[in-house]
Amino acid sequence: MSSSPVLDATHDPRRRSWVPVPPGSDFPIQNLPYGIFRCGGSPPRVGIAIGEFVLDLATLDAAGIFRGTPLDGQPLFERASLNPLLALGGAAWRAARRRISDLLDEASPELQGNERLRDAALVPQASATLMLPVEIGDYTDFYSSREHATNVGVMFRGPDNALMPNWLHLPVGYHGRASSVVVSGTPVRRPCGQTLPDGAAAPAFGPSRQLDFELEVGLFTGPGNALGQPIPLAGAHEAIFGFVLVNDWSARDIQKWEYQPLGPFLAKNFATSISPWVVTLDALLPFRVAGPRQDDPAPLPYLSESEPWSFDIALEVWLKTARMGERARIARSNHRHLYWNVRQQVAHHTVTGCNLRPGDLLASGTISGPTKDSRGSLLELSWRGTEPLALPSGETRTFLEDGDELTITGFAAKDGVRVGFGEVAGTVLPAHP
Ligand code: CA
Repeated sequence: MSSSPVLDATHDPRRRSWVPVPPGSDFPIQNLPYGIFRCGGSPPRVGIAIGEFVLDLATLDAAGIFRGTPLDGQPLFERASLNPLLALGGAAWRAARRRISDLLDEASPELQGNERLRDAALVPQASATLMLPVEIGDYTDFYSSREHATNVGVMFRGPDNALMPNWLHLPVGYHGRASSVVVSGTPVRRPCGQTLPDGAAAPAFGPSRQLDFELEVGLFTGPGNALGQPIPLAGAHEAIFGFVLVNDWSARDIQKWEYQPLGPFLAKNFATSISPWVVTLDALLPFRVAGPRQDDPAPLPYLSESEPWSFDIALEVWLKTARMGERARIARSNHRHLYWNVRQQVAHHTVTGCNLRPGDLLASGTISGPTKDSRGSLLELSWRGTEPLALPSGETRTFLEDGDELTITGFAAKDGVRVGFGEVAGTVLPAHP
């Protein structure tokens, strides 16, 4: 069984990099998130965000920077996905973090003083194309926000039956679609499907009229587990490499007609957007907080959590219509509102012996908070379309319209250090005629 992870010099708020990091940047030396990028005609490779640059790990590896570490001698960085790195596990991830943090430390002359290598390895983010960072094997979507589940339950079943009888006993989830997970910036085509219009006796086919976003945070798994071998809760954090922002696009009218009895299918399989930088669990350790109390009812022993494994990550949702000059914030929430934490999700997912593999995506479910402005979907913000959202342009929205750009941002901040995620953005394209 594993012990709780500890902070080290890579988390020291006083540590500074010789690479300039502008105030308010999501990417100081304490963060070091991983991504896959391409530059000019070069093949995709692994990079780390620092300030307004990408640190090219393939170039550093070729120069022998990782010699003597568990990362040496393995083709990890001249790759189009992070999966080989994810498969190595926590000891290698922490060795990489220490090595890269030391290299970027303002007191270290090693890379700073090597002009040729430094210039080759630092690429301005503005000239890099960020790609889907992980080859996602399986995508699971949970439903772990009590406020979200309650809001949806009240709208569809009334306040007396808002939470289903199982909800407080297990992290409800479903197996989603991995092939349509796309990186931030990818446009999203409005889906067509079957709906049952109010009062109609038979379904109709056509473009969804209730296209929605869902504010979520997803985790990427590391080495995983052998089939038949559950991951116990006490060590479940070691199965997690890092986190991205997730927009789980949802067609509410399609969902309403199709979802019984097996849950959402086409309403959510057309696109799921993620942010390009994977913020590691190690980088988020200083921001751990206790989640909501779980004593009424207490979970079964295999889900019983005694450590603080929620994260204080501020989350914001921004909308920009085709007529707006700049985006407007329409919601603010926080990862800490989740009722079921990431260790409980991993333990529950694998308790049957289901095997997680390197690069599986486990999303949190919509993260709504206790206040009206912390609701993580338009379904809730507009209360099923009955309370249209007023925008600064004078327009209103109940659900997304063609040309709308939806952006989610997120960051954790403490002791003057901001560990951010960047953003996940997507613009709605009209349905195919
Ligand atoms: Ca979802």
